[in-house]
Amino acid sequence: MTRGEHAVVTGGAGFVGSHLVDRLLEDGFRVTSIDNYGSGRRENLEHLSDEAGFTELEHDIREPLPEFKNVDQIYHFASRASPADFKSHAIEIAQTNSQGTRNVYDLAIEHYAQLVIASTSEIYGDPEVHPQSEEYSGNVNVRGPRAPYDESKRFAEALAVAYAQRYEFDARILRIFNTYGPRMRNDDGRVIPNFLSQAIQGKDLTVYGDGTQTRSFCYVDDLVEGIRRIGGAESERVANTVFNIGHTHEITINTLAETVLDTVDTSSEIVHIDRPTEDPDYRQPNIDRIQSTLDWEPTVDLHTGLDRTISYFERELGAMTPDS
Ligand code: UDP
Repeated sequence: MTRGEHAVVTGGAGFVGSHLVDRLLEDGFRVTSIDNYGSGRRENLEHLSDEAGFTELEHDIREPLPEFKNVDQIYHFASRASPADFKSHAIEIAQTNSQGTRNVYDLAIEHYAQLVIASTSEIYGDPEVHPQSEEYSGNVNVRGPRAPYDESKRFAEALAVAYAQRYEFDARILRIFNTYGPRMRNDDGRVIPNFLSQAIQGKDLTVYGDGTQTRSFCYVDDLVEGIRRIGGAESERVANTVFNIGHTHEITINTLAETVLDTVDTSSEIVHIDRPTEDPDYRQPNIDRIQSTLDWEPTVDLHTGLDRTISYFERELGAMTPDS
């Protein structure tokens, strides 16, 4: 295939980034992944080792970025995103989303490249408005346990606004709500990898607190479709616009745990343990904007998405029987 435009994906070896790399290659781009392999994994890109249009760079975006001959699109997905890392990697996360993001924006300016930025539902903090629409400015504790991630992602958005005021800058911002699927690490610490690993290994599922807190879980293929629609849309419609992206089906963590037990053949039970402080009570996106602008909505229901993810975790954990 003759490859056309050049797309750079920061965080290309990560869970979402690696699926996006696959999709961009399918869509005919030349693709460069930039990753420091902090949370991203080489295995996520191994299947592309013979792919002519693909380049894998080991680089930390906190350092000045490599020189490129041309860049048409940048997808900025580099950052640890698991609450389990927010304390242990607090400074790294804050720097990646501030100085690292600035380096990425400068690359976009240098090449007049179009940019898609991974922001997060975390910028809404522990929301007092439900569901959350893009106009809601959030409820984040600047000194809270999630602050290094939440505040640096908020800064990344603020910096995008500043760049758009000063430069010719076409950034499209995605506030990504809870997403799951194959290539999440089984030690990632987020709820779906935890519950699936626990269920597959016959360990009890650890529900934090009473389990009445809610989340809305989007399967990664739906997310990637939304990212590409945003990346492929004309500037006039989407430049410097913020979009929520995620599933609208909101469930309690108890319901998630029960669904996992119904889906995996396991002897595991549910146990309730201490809930982390400032764990948001509710989360559900209002996706009217992306629906009306790009006709995007999630298509994969939780059972289907969990089935696909379970197969991956079974392989990862070596739990399948040799002839299955
Ligand atoms: N959670 C849980 N058990 C786990 C991991 C997470 O009950 O083993 C809960 C957590 O308290 C939160 C929800 O699941 O309310 C989602 O957590 P996750 O870390 O996946 O993402 P968050 O939405 O908090 O960023």
